[in-house]
Amino acid sequence: MRGKHVIANWKMHGGLETNAALLHDVLAGVTGLPEAVGVAVCVPFPYLTQAQALLRGSRVALGAQNLSEHPQGAFTGEVAASMLNDFACRYVLVGHSERRGLYGETNALVAKKFAAALAKNLSPILCVGETLEERDAGRTLDVVSAQIDAVLDHVGIAGFSGALVAYEPVWAIGTGRTATSAQAQEVHASIRARLACADAGVAEKLEILYGGSVKPSNASELFSMKDIDGGLIGGASLHAADFLAICRAAA
Ligand code: PEP
Repeated sequence: MRGKHVIANWKMHGGLETNAALLHDVLAGVTGLPEAVGVAVCVPFPYLTQAQALLRGSRVALGAQNLSEHPQGAFTGEVAASMLNDFACRYVLVGHSERRGLYGETNALVAKKFAAALAKNLSPILCVGETLEERDAGRTLDVVSAQIDAVLDHVGIAGFSGALVAYEPVWAIGTGRTATSAQAQEVHASIRARLACADAGVAEKLEILYGGSVKPSNASELFSMKDIDGGLIGGASLHAADFLAICRAAA
């Protein structure tokens, strides 16, 4: 049986005061959740220290939203995987569509970042997904397969046993438009099938999260699908009550 995860992506939101209040409410609310639901928050880099201190000893894990593909060196403004280790991060988002779309991250670069995370025992959360144009052109499964294959070719199937995948259709992120559970399930199943060609055991155990305007009102339906193992939550993760309701839907 696979576990389920609900992971918050705060994106570039937050402040010391609002973070403290949000984490306080999240910590109070997760106490009743079944242990089978893993909960994590991916915060902006400057707040790792604060979040590490507030989450210490709790069941809410810490994650970052990006990392460098390099281990160290003259890369001004970049953050290495070893630096995330210093703050006890367990997770790191890799290849979020905003990184791909706004900062030109290619499949090849994303694969290197995935490998850099694994090298420092971080669990990469590989984000994949198609644009609306690609969906309308009937290219969804090709685009997502290419995103998966780039990482598979670089790290091998064993790399996926320490990772999670998040299917996030670009047209559903922050738009209020959610993929139907059937649309999401189709892509999740195709990701699992693709990885199963390399190793059925790894593919079966891999948690594949859905992201894209998940809210309390649509979470249960999405999470009831066979291959949807929880969610990556943007906007709704900034409101403790909504985030906790989504966590409960995964239980
Ligand atoms: C995300 O940022 O990964 C995301 C899914 O955002 P939202 O939930 O706001 O669509």
